[in-house]
Amino acid sequence: MAFDIEMIKGVYSKMAKNVDKAREVVGKPLTLSEKILYNHLWDGAPDKAFVRGKDYVDFAPDRIACQDATAQMALLQFMQAGKSKVAVPTTVHCDHLIQAKEGAATDLKHANNVSSEVFNFLESVSNKYGIGFWKPGAGIIHQVVLENYAFPGGMMIGTDSHTVNAGGLGMVAIGVGGADAVDVMAGMAWELKFPKLIGVKLTGKLSGWTAPKDVILKVAEILTVKGGTGAIVEYFGPGALAMSCTGKGTICNMGAEIGATTSTFGYDDSMERYLKATDREDVAEEANKIREYLTADPEVYANPEQYFDQLIEINLSELSPLLNGPFTPDLSTPVGSEMTGKAKDNDWPIKVEWGLIGSCTNSSYEDLSRASSIAQQALDKGLKTKAEFGINPGSEQVRYTAERDGILQVFEKLDAKIFTNACGPCIGQWARYSDPKNAPKNSIVHSFNRNFAKRADGNPNTHAFVASPEITAAIAIAGRLDFNPMTDSLINENGEEVMLDEPTGWELPPKGFDVKDNGYLEPEEDGSHVNVVVNETSERLQLLTPFEPLGDTITGAKLLIKAFGKCTTDHISMAGPWLRFRGHLDNIANNTLIGAVNAFNQKTNFVKNQLTGEYGGVPDVQRQYKKAGIKTIVVGDHNYGEGSSREHAAMQPRHLGVAAVIVKSFARIHETNLKKQGMLGLTFANENDYDLIQEDDTFNFLDLNEFAPDKQLTLEVVHADGSKDAIKLNHSYNEAQIAWYNEGSALNLIKKQNA
Ligand code: SF4
Repeated sequence: MAFDIEMIKGVYSKMAKNVDKAREVVGKPLTLSEKILYNHLWDGAPDKAFVRGKDYVDFAPDRIACQDATAQMALLQFMQAGKSKVAVPTTVHCDHLIQAKEGAATDLKHANNVSSEVFNFLESVSNKYGIGFWKPGAGIIHQVVLENYAFPGGMMIGTDSHTVNAGGLGMVAIGVGGADAVDVMAGMAWELKFPKLIGVKLTGKLSGWTAPKDVILKVAEILTVKGGTGAIVEYFGPGALAMSCTGKGTICNMGAEIGATTSTFGYDDSMERYLKATDREDVAEEANKIREYLTADPEVYANPEQYFDQLIEINLSELSPLLNGPFTPDLSTPVGSEMTGKAKDNDWPIKVEWGLIGSCTNSSYEDLSRASSIAQQALDKGLKTKAEFGINPGSEQVRYTAERDGILQVFEKLDAKIFTNACGPCIGQWARYSDPKNAPKNSIVHSFNRNFAKRADGNPNTHAFVASPEITAAIAIAGRLDFNPMTDSLINENGEEVMLDEPTGWELPPKGFDVKDNGYLEPEEDGSHVNVVVNETSERLQLLTPFEPLGDTITGAKLLIKAFGKCTTDHISMAGPWLRFRGHLDNIANNTLIGAVNAFNQKTNFVKNQLTGEYGGVPDVQRQYKKAGIKTIVVGDHNYGEGSSREHAAMQPRHLGVAAVIVKSFARIHETNLKKQGMLGLTFANENDYDLIQEDDTFNFLDLNEFAPDKQLTLEVVHADGSKDAIKLNHSYNEAQIAWYNEGSALNLIKKQNA
């Protein structure tokens, strides 16, 4: 039920043929990443080589996973597609909307109360459209995917940036925006720029206090938070073979922190062991049959510099534990005395108040068992822990097994809080303070992936450092950032000096995994009778109504805002408290462009209403234009819409009545999102025309009725004094995208085609 072995067999059955053909067209041995990519082309067998970092390619992913925060709008959109079932296996995971406070039992009950309408909605939509549903408390999306769905050589997309975690089981798994996921659910191709490839050769072997987490903390130090952009990071070498599958998952997970498209490892014995331990002997059996296709060609790993765009080599035998942070995951400090001076120089509190273990990054059985071997020593050696412990297991299967094996009890004896199997403190869902904005300066250590300001507890003064679970445990016991368990002793309650021994643990549970209720709900075979209920008075959910086509005549449009400088998707649709309204387009539209700087007064959320001459907030002014039946345009600078692939940044202006966004240049994903929502996303043919746009201008499109690929459009700009400028606008719409515009949105077109 949980995974589809027939689908996996289908992927493997074409792998040999497609990879052999790809080797022929590329003209040289292939990396693992290329093998997976070329086996997932939308058009079938490869007939030409793609240029890395340049060509846009249509792919056919095998699976989709969505988390509860992003799934809301994705599923609301999917409901518009007129399909009775999703086209590829899809799962929804309730993990982001559960706050950590008292501990699992109380917190889960609370979440089920406050977010019940969202959970019920996701459950009923999943049931209706053939989507697997993981209930609140079942686990964190990426750990659940690794345990149940990831498979070597597969390709998946997920509406969460840490979807990349599944690379630990040899997948190409990529985080996308909801609009992309909806396309694939509806049976369309998924487009990606063919990635560049970064090879990371791991020699030597991890030992002692060093863990897989330290590998990615080191890679983050080397590549920085932007170094992986547009690339797949492929790990290989003897050090990789000697590492557990879940350890590989940790490394791939934090590939998101270096901006990588994804990361992956070749199929090996550790993956086979993990598949078998998680009840997927049949997947391992199938993978074993095509083993050589699930890793790079031997020539690649023998001479990697010839095949990767960039190569990094790390000797694991020389790697020492690292502590990355605060406020950025690429700022590395070796564990120990170097931190003493660094903390002093930078005024980082040396005292550690919390040690948090878990999240999708480090919540495997191996992670918990190794961290508990350190915690056990605190009990055995009479040490009183100086910081508090918080644990969030990655899945109910891990939690149940760890409890059965006495692992969680070790932490409980140290008064640890065992939070729900959910994201909790990793996504700011941690009720640590009643007034986080004014909370005191402090340091915490965690085994999560991100440590930006406010990420864990909403307190801008919390300095969060990222480390392995075992180092997190040691530092929490010592209560000092600069504690080095390899050299430093601690004084126990009897006044004796004691040292912590190296961590020990199990890669996999010796007695096997077990779980009573894993929290999974299989959808009905025929969900046509299932009623999806959305309360009309709901603040958090709103069914979508199809957008009306904007038509081929747009005249008399007004300027809503001319944005100055950087205008990211966060400026267009802010996150923070607005996350609550992710499933309610009209409510979340009240944040539209409130972060954009008005070029005429350098203020945010303060634009002129041409109907009244008064100034007001962007959403308010826009709603007045809409009421008066007047279309508007937004003007922007370079790289407009950079940041995330959030489709809300396009849907909100569209919902409020903005017809066109005209900028010097777009971030490509946002440009595509505007097209998908049936809007005009255009660029100035002459960048300097940006300067012509005045606050009181009115706009007439002169030749929109001739909208065609590769043909410029002409915009007449009528200034307040009656003078006019006719400016040329470029666009990148192809025939299919013009059809989206003509129908009002891509989804309208899909629906029409289905009908
Ligand atoms: Fe994202 Fe953290 Fe949840 Fe992982 S645990 S999915 S990183 S919020």
